[in-house]
Amino acid sequence: MKDYVKINKTGGLHIPIKLRRELNINNGDAVVIEPVEGGGIKVLPYRPSCVFCGVQEHIRELNGKGCCEECYEKLTQTEVMV
Ligand SMILES: [Zn+2]
Repeated sequence: MKDYVKINKTGGLHIPIKLRRELNINNGDAVVIEPVEGGGIKVLPYRPSCVFCGVQEHIRELNGKGCCEECYEKLTQTEVMV
């Protein structure tokens, strides 16, 4: 599916409703944009992931970063050697 859209005055990009519905992107959701080889841009739905292992399910916040339950348990059960 290809669409032609314009970038607005503030640099915003309108993602067509059909595509947003297809990708389950809602108003106010974050997206990830990244350059691709050949001069393009890739836009992906933002899915929080664990900063330690990359898992995208059961993410909680730990000091402002995403952390999965398994890594959270490992981190909080680590004993500090004195
Ligand atoms: Zn993890």
